Amino acid sequence: MKALVFNGDHSIALEERPTPKILKATDAIIKVLKTTICGTDLGIYKGKNPEITKGRILGHEGIGIVEEVGESVTQYKKGDKVLISCITSCGSCEYCKKQLYSHCKDGGWILGYMIDGVQAEYVRIPHADNSLFKIPKSIDDEVAVLLSDILPTGHEIGVQYGNVKPGDTVAIVGAGPVGMSVLLTAQLYAPAIIIMVDMDENRLKVAKELGATHTVNPAVENAVEAIHKISKEGVDVAIEAVGIPKTWDVCQEIVKPGGHIANVGVHGVKVDFQIQKLWIKNLTITTGLVNTNTTPMLIKAVSSNKFDLKKMITHRYKLSEIEKAYEVFLNGSKEKALKIIITNS
Ligand SMILES: [Zn+2]
Ligand SMILES: [Zn+2]
Repeated sequence: MKALVFNGDHSIALEERPTPKILKATDAIIKVLKTTICGTDLGIYKGKNPEITKGRILGHEGIGIVEEVGESVTQYKKGDKVLISCITSCGSCEYCKKQLYSHCKDGGWILGYMIDGVQAEYVRIPHADNSLFKIPKSIDDEVAVLLSDILPTGHEIGVQYGNVKPGDTVAIVGAGPVGMSVLLTAQLYAPAIIIMVDMDENRLKVAKELGATHTVNPAVENAVEAIHKISKEGVDVAIEAVGIPKTWDVCQEIVKPGGHIANVGVHGVKVDFQIQKLWIKNLTITTGLVNTNTTPMLIKAVSSNKFDLKKMITHRYKLSEIEKAYEVFLNGSKEKALKIIITNS
């Protein structure tokens, strides 16, 4: 089969690889219909994760058709259309019992990282009963791909951990696909003001279309001053959705007493934590990796058409063109790329 393989720092290639087989009774083999490239995949490409073995097939988001199941799999059968969760979970370990699936002792984020991933014609999914979801007919295939990772990540780690409430003022720092997912799912909780912060005017324009009440561009104005002007005393919830020191600093400067900073961004270097200013503010600061415990709820919300998700899909490629798709996503700003759908034809 064809698969996108990581061959080390800045080196990926579409290669011929053996089709995966059932290794454990709880496995399923999925024929991939659609997948996408995540910011995390770009991080791997750029050498951010030296722990990854060369030869690894990348990708952790996608949908497909069940091709074969191990003898212990009870919830799925050949022919079912399924959403592949970015998080694999056994459902029975200490962390799974607390719904902290991202820390499953025999799973978590392993797809396209510790085991071969979804950017291929076929993929093996361990603990299939817990790590797949049925897709209702009412959800479009392309939109379903966004439910693997970005929508639950934005909802759980941004909106829920940030405790967004009716009437709140919320700032989302970073208008990438996950920041946009925060923006969409925050609106389920009726905040009064949502300020989107990004240096990319095109992304800010899309954010306005998706429900942001205000936008701030740090390339043309002082972001902290601009947010204080809009929010008066500061924001109730500051959501960091980039993962660099500068954006973390903005969140520290704009949150008001009693507020929340929810960190969603994947950080590669340390940040300055201004504890000498923040200790007095009665803040809640949260971090985390998506658990996908709200995926069933989001599937229902999406199937009832609560979100305008198609606007986030900017490019489409065939699996045979995936190297080109990586190039486009690496130049995301210039190419006006948000989410790229890759179809296995
Ligand atoms: Zn992802
Ligand atoms: Zn587990």
